[in-house]
Amino acid sequence: MSEHKYEKFVQKDNVVVDGVDLSGEWNKMYEPREILTYDIDGLEKLRELPGAKSINACYQCAQCIGVCPVDNVGSYGPRKIFRKLQTGMDFFDHDDLWLCTTCSNCLRVCPKEVDMIQIIPAAREQAVLNGNVPGEIQDMLQNVAEYGNPMGESARKRVGWLRKFEEPVRDLSKETDPEPVDVLWYVSDYFSYHNRGNDAAKATVRVFNRLGIDFGILGKEEKCDGDSQRLVGESGLFEELAEHNGIQFDKYEHNKLVVSDPHAYNAFKNFYPAVTGKEYNLQHYTQLLEERVDDLAKLMKRPFPKKVTFHDPCYLGRHNGEYNAPRTLLNAVPEIEYMEMYRNKEQAYCCGGGGGGMWLDGLMADNSAERLSENRVKEAVEVGAEILAVCCPYEVSRFEDAVKSTNNDGKLLVMDIIEILDYCMSEGEDTA
Ligand code: SF4
Ligand code: SF4
Repeated sequence: MSEHKYEKFVQKDNVVVDGVDLSGEWNKMYEPREILTYDIDGLEKLRELPGAKSINACYQCAQCIGVCPVDNVGSYGPRKIFRKLQTGMDFFDHDDLWLCTTCSNCLRVCPKEVDMIQIIPAAREQAVLNGNVPGEIQDMLQNVAEYGNPMGESARKRVGWLRKFEEPVRDLSKETDPEPVDVLWYVSDYFSYHNRGNDAAKATVRVFNRLGIDFGILGKEEKCDGDSQRLVGESGLFEELAEHNGIQFDKYEHNKLVVSDPHAYNAFKNFYPAVTGKEYNLQHYTQLLEERVDDLAKLMKRPFPKKVTFHDPCYLGRHNGEYNAPRTLLNAVPEIEYMEMYRNKEQAYCCGGGGGGMWLDGLMADNSAERLSENRVKEAVEVGAEILAVCCPYEVSRFEDAVKSTNNDGKLLVMDIIEILDYCMSEGEDTA
């Protein structure tokens, strides 16, 4: 081995290629080559975490970059993250750790199955343990831990939307010896506490009642489903919430658990069983109503002659494979003119709310040219839609803000599908 002034330089005296012994000078031009090395402690730490090993399989093909919604408005994606890790990035102390919305579009196209849906929560769990969490996420986690919802509202207020609401709703937490219900409806945080969510919650009640669905709610006993908290790395809090909600589900005899929130759907279907030891007979509300679409169609007397497009929620679509139920409902709406956006179904764009993105608007603004929700709203306008239909409680508020910030006020309305169904089933002569 020859001595050399470059510390990181390694030169072999000779190398044998196809039986030919080459001298140590074999691949040098006039100066010795300098081989740089990087501190890859961060990469090593990451790939040793449970579930994160697949990051190592990345071979830089860049398939993921074209589909990553965050790269679309900035510079991101597994390929870029892996390259930065190879060149010394400390992922556990970097904004990149928090930008992924866990939309799962990269996993869909990655030939090496680099799985950000496991890598990201595993890495964030470490950051949480080190107390290295963005302030916006810290506040949200504290609210959920203390109050059972990200807004920091009291459990009592969870049923505040029922005040002065005349429609019959069985709040099972108030009944002394409750009779079984067919459907136990998990209302969710945003339907319970957000004013636009309240509109959709009320619409759900009216639609369920008109269809004669026998349902009840958990009232003040319901808590946040915990899926977003799990995805930002708070697995302990997720388990507490799963145990709590699991006990409530057991308390009231029911045939089906129905959710309005795809994040709750994902949690109850894929992650609660490991905590509670139970599988749930679960449906998203669009699936429950799809089974009753003939009855629904008969009851929808009021036309809705609007150009409507639909945004697939990542956690109903890509994560759980449901693309048809929302479309079946929309296509049953009288006089609707339904249109797809360019990026739909498996390839749908992300609203930016998943994987903790709901509480990271500040961080996202620092790292991107525009919000994902703004990008999506522009697409809806571009295809000529007047209504952007959604079926995830995170989305109405996100998209309504984006409609304003992109100056599309008056051009595009955001409505939950259940609100459109409710409108068409309601009395009244006017058209929309
Ligand atoms: S698609 Fe997979 S293998 Fe290709 S660059 Fe992205 S993460 Fe790496
Ligand atoms: S999960 Fe979605 S946001 Fe995250 S890196 Fe993959 S494509 Fe980008």
